[in-house]
Amino acid sequence: MKFYSTNRRSDHVSFEQAVMKGLADDGGLFMPEIIPAFEKVFFSNLEKYSFQELAFSIAKKFVEDEIGEDKLEKIILDAINFPAPVVPLNENISVLELFHGPTLAFKDFGARFMAKTMEFFNSKEDKELNILVATSGDTGSAVANGFYEIEGINVLVLYPKGKVSYLQEKQITSMDKNITALEIDGTFDDCQRLVKTVFVDGDLKNKLNLSSANSINFARLLPQTFYYFEAFKQLQNKNENEIFAVPSGNLGNLTAGLIAKKMGLPITKFAAAVNSNSVFSEYISTGKYFPRQSITTLSNPMDVGDPSNLSRIRELYSGKHNEIQHDIYSDSTTDEVTLKTIHEAFNKHNYIFDPHGAVGYNSVNNYIKKNNLINYSAVVLETAHPAKFLDAVEKEIKIKIEIPERLKICLQKEKKSIQLSAKYSDFKNFLLRNS
Ligand SMILES: *Cc1c(COP(=O)(O)O)cnc(C)c1O
Repeated sequence: MKFYSTNRRSDHVSFEQAVMKGLADDGGLFMPEIIPAFEKVFFSNLEKYSFQELAFSIAKKFVEDEIGEDKLEKIILDAINFPAPVVPLNENISVLELFHGPTLAFKDFGARFMAKTMEFFNSKEDKELNILVATSGDTGSAVANGFYEIEGINVLVLYPKGKVSYLQEKQITSMDKNITALEIDGTFDDCQRLVKTVFVDGDLKNKLNLSSANSINFARLLPQTFYYFEAFKQLQNKNENEIFAVPSGNLGNLTAGLIAKKMGLPITKFAAAVNSNSVFSEYISTGKYFPRQSITTLSNPMDVGDPSNLSRIRELYSGKHNEIQHDIYSDSTTDEVTLKTIHEAFNKHNYIFDPHGAVGYNSVNNYIKKNNLINYSAVVLETAHPAKFLDAVEKEIKIKIEIPERLKICLQKEKKSIQLSAKYSDFKNFLLRNS
C-alpha cells in the first residue's frame, strides 16, 4: 500500500516510510491511497476469528508484503496481547473496555503496535534509533511502555514538571533501561516545541538517528481499527442501527472507526463525544472550523483545540460535509454534566465510567433521545480505567475503586527523571552529550 500526504506536496511513500517518518515532509498526515474493503462474507463470519486473527487480516491489507506474514503475526501477538471486551449495560447499550493494556488506557493499542512495527523496520539498520515524545500524561506512559526493552531503540519522554498527575508521573518515570524521562521546567507546549525544534535542526538531525512517536503516526491509527471489528463481533443484539460513541480529542480514535466503516464494517453512526473543547462538535453542526486554544477539563487527554486528525476525516469524505454529517453526530459535555453522568450511570447500571467514557455515554444518550430511537444498539468506548482518574470518580460515587495490580506495581517503584530547563540549547546539549 502506498501512502500520500494530506497536504499533497510530498511524494507517495511505502508503509515503512510512513511509519518511520511519522509526518510527511510537507507537514501533512499520511493516508493510504485506498481504503481496502472486506467481502460481505467476512462480516458474517466474524465470530470465527480471534481478536488477533481479526487484527492480522486488517493489518495485512495495509502492510501487504512489507512485513512477512510470520513477522506480522508475531508483531500482533506481542502488541495486542490483552482483550477488548464488550460489557452489556442493558439490552441496547454496552461498553467496549479499551483499558486492559499495561497503562490502562486505549493508547496502549496504538503505542504497542507502533513500537513493535518500528522495531521490525529498524532491525534492518545498524544504527540505534532515538525516539522523542512530548506528553501531557497518557501518551508518554503508553509509548514508554510499548518501547520498553526494545532493542536498538531509545526513547526520551518529555513531560512538564508538576503538570501531570502523580499517577501519570509514576508511570512515566518508573521505567529504566532504554526509556529516559525528561522533566522539563515548563508547560506541555514547551515540551512539544523542544521536540519539534529538533526535527528542523539540520545540525542535530544529521548527527542523531531520530524519529518521533507522536499520535499522528499511521502505525498508531491502524491498530485502533482492530477493536471496532472485535466489538462488532461480540455484539449480542446486532441491529440495523449500530451507534458507536467515541470520546474524542485529536480524533484518532474516531478516524480509525471511520476507516473500519469504509472497510465495510456496518456501523450506522458515530457519536463523537467531546468535552468543553467543542471545536469539533461546532464543525459538525455548522461545517465551519475555528481552531482555538484548549481549555483544561476533567478529561484532559481530550483537551484539544485544533484536532490533528480532522484533515484525515476530510480526506475520507473528499471534503463533503453533508456526508460527514450523515455518519457523525457530535456534541459537547461539560465537567459538571460529566460528573453527574458518572453518578447516574453508576446508579442505573452499577457500572463505573471514567470521565472520558462518561462523556461518550452522555453523548450517545443525547443522540438516542433527540432521534427517538427504539431499535438500536449503542457501544460506548471506555478509553481509560476509572482508577486512572480516582479523585474525580471516587468523589462522585463514594465507593472505593479497586486499583489494578499493574498500576500498583509502578506506584511502588522509584521515580527516575532528568531535570532540564525549557531552553532549546539545554535540550540540544543534553542530546549531544548522550548520543
Ligand atoms: C487520548 C485519549 C482520548 C482522545 O482520543 P483521540 O484519539 O485523541 O480523539 C480519549 N480518552 C483517553 C483516555 C485518552 O487518553
